[in-house]
Amino acid sequence: MAKPMDQYKWHELNLGCVIEDVGNAQEYKTGDWRSQKPVHDNTKCTRCALCWLFCPDSAVFEIEDEYFDTNLDYCKGCGICAKECPADAITMVEEER
Ligand code: SF4
Ligand code: SF4
Repeated sequence: MAKPMDQYKWHELNLGCVIEDVGNAQEYKTGDWRSQKPVHDNTKCTRCALCWLFCPDSAVFEIEDEYFDTNLDYCKGCGICAKECPADAITMVEEER
């Protein structure tokens, strides 16, 4: 029987498809819309990659040692990554302008 989705490592997931960016979407720094930003706590992170998987803006990227961080140029601050993180390793904090 298959394991629940949250028990797979990111590299164990089957690729469905890869959609390449088209047009000029990368030129729009949608992070300017944000009022809160996610902060990762790697002391709690289990490196499950669910934040990377669920981010609707592909703003989560892998850093050293298979941890993850956020590209603030494109993060809109929706909080989905923090909501989906099973380890409570992401905190949404107010932006300072
Ligand atoms: S921050 Fe949370 S969701 Fe992201 S890899 Fe770490 S434990 Fe998983
Ligand atoms: S707050 Fe939203 S847009 Fe920003 S990294 Fe998390 S899921 Fe992606």
